[in-house]
Amino acid sequence: MSRPKNQNYKGHGLSKGKEREQRASIRFKTTLMNTLMDVLRHRPGWVEVKDEGEWDFYWCDVSWLRENFDHTYMDEHVRISHFRNHYELTRKNYMVKNLKRFRKQLEREAGKLEAAKCDFFPKTFEMPCEYHLFVEEFRKNPGITWIMKPVARSQGKGIFLFRRLKDIMDWRKDARSSDDQKDEIPVENYVAQRYIENPYLIGGRKFDLRVYVLVMSYIPLRAWLYRDGFARFSNTRFTLSSIDDQYVHLTNVAVQKTSPDYHPKKGCKWMLQRFRQYLASKHGPEAVETLFSDMDNIFVKSLQSVQKVIISDKHCFELYGYDILIDQTLKPWLLEVNASPSLTASSQEDYELKTCLLEDTLHVVDMEARLTGREKRVGGFDLMWNDGPVSREEGPPDLSGMGNFVANTHLGCVNDRNNQLRQLFRSLQNQKKVSS
Ligand code: ADP
Repeated sequence: MSRPKNQNYKGHGLSKGKEREQRASIRFKTTLMNTLMDVLRHRPGWVEVKDEGEWDFYWCDVSWLRENFDHTYMDEHVRISHFRNHYELTRKNYMVKNLKRFRKQLEREAGKLEAAKCDFFPKTFEMPCEYHLFVEEFRKNPGITWIMKPVARSQGKGIFLFRRLKDIMDWRKDARSSDDQKDEIPVENYVAQRYIENPYLIGGRKFDLRVYVLVMSYIPLRAWLYRDGFARFSNTRFTLSSIDDQYVHLTNVAVQKTSPDYHPKKGCKWMLQRFRQYLASKHGPEAVETLFSDMDNIFVKSLQSVQKVIISDKHCFELYGYDILIDQTLKPWLLEVNASPSLTASSQEDYELKTCLLEDTLHVVDMEARLTGREKRVGGFDLMWNDGPVSREEGPPDLSGMGNFVANTHLGCVNDRNNQLRQLFRSLQNQKKVSS
């Protein structure tokens, strides 16, 4: 291992011959105390490292990354759970900036039709810097609803809907006054985004989808799509007549949990399988196939939009949580991509989903070096992109344009291979309940 001379650098993953021989186990570290800890602690051969101890695998939070990544030396085999500049995709303003740029590039290089495949995010303006552009757009479409979202917060915090410019004047004033005191209070950036006024409703309620995508490398792009995920419902019937009611408009679990109608036992989630079956029974299998392949397009295009800007470090992987909203025409919209999707379980079903998801993530990350590199499926993950589209069939993909290509994605399809794993974590949780 070549350690930089700078003494402030921290080294991880010992490589000196003797020490490597002694490392019979994988030393992991994490700051998260949720389903992740259960999975890591039960993985055979993995041992927990605390404080300043050496580690081979670190599921870190993004604040640790920001402060430490650049001063940390990592050995070849070491893995860490974020890319250095993950925010290019996971901050609302950067995501939109990158998508707009990628769209322009596609239009130049491949034409209008190809560029139109990027039209899956609602019209968005960064505030305050694009305020004047926003006003222009606002005046073109009087009466429609907009949503203001702080770029770097989550769980629905700081979000509000509006229809009149007057409604955001207070926010503008705040931004301007803090501009005068730049050094003291940094201005909080927002995005103003066109509100999807016609969400697909089930039982009169709005929902959005949480889908998991695991990226192992950006150059070349190698991404896996998880079969399971869920729809998060609001507890209150949808209406456009009360735009101030966050229980109607924001489907975040963190928001809905505080609603007076929330039932902790029932929760507010449907697994993706149930959702897919519901849609198939209402609209037929073809409409569902189209919707799900439109979602595949969102995952791939959004990753491609940041492929050249993300620092593709071989030590890094990232498990993204995509938030997708579907409208009444069955068009999926990308709302945001989360770098730290919640790994806290809100119910038994949710616990099983998240523990299996994490277990399968660790299989793909493959610290144990068990994979051959030719796998198209690992647990609930299907290889979606491997420097190009991945076909469900064996052999090289047929890209002849004859329409024979079938993508290797199975979002919302039955994830039968995980039944055993589910059983294991179910009994683990029952043991925990008994002992507490
Ligand atoms: P956060 O990071 O705070 O969760 P999101 O962008 O995911 O922010 O928005 C929170 C919720 O607000 C979403 O889950 C969705 O229910 C609703 N929402 C956000 N943007 C839109 C939009 N453009 N149209 C309709 N609903 C939206």
